[in-house]
Amino acid sequence: MSDSYPMSDEARESILAAMKLGLEAAKIKNKETYTPKKYRKGWCRCPHKPSVSWLGYIVLSVPLIEVRGFHQKIKRRHIIYLNDALSESEAQFVCAHELGHALLHNQINRLFLDSNTYFISREFEISADRFAVHLLHTDEEEEALTKVYQYTTAQISRMWGIPEALVEYRVNH
Ligand SMILES: [Zn+2]
Repeated sequence: MSDSYPMSDEARESILAAMKLGLEAAKIKNKETYTPKKYRKGWCRCPHKPSVSWLGYIVLSVPLIEVRGFHQKIKRRHIIYLNDALSESEAQFVCAHELGHALLHNQINRLFLDSNTYFISREFEISADRFAVHLLHTDEEEEALTKVYQYTTAQISRMWGIPEALVEYRVNH
């Protein structure tokens, strides 16, 4: 994994501990999925709940150090790990960003550890951010804020909790 990046032992340990939970979650999910429906307990598709679980992804909120989140595919399961110290809106953005990595960068055999301090690859981070901002904010919402309410990008940046440059990108695309 991130051998070439500066990372504390604590951060590394937090990632390994999270991955252990992820492996267990993947095993449980696979057992449910491959068990005939009539034998499943508490099985619910929850179609009204818009979330990445629609895709069969596992989202785990875990204690992580120096890392906001990451995506991993194990046992044919996609797992999105989110730092449990994130606020709800931060967690939502990081989750969408990780989904971007999962969908856009699935041919790249690399773990994208997302922190505020290290940039593994700007190119991949920018595309995951752009994916996330499109997923979370519709054209209608963007147009209402900029055209009807005439908010500035700085105001929207605070409202959405993301950098101004990313708001500018969303407004222009
Ligand atoms: Zn990333």
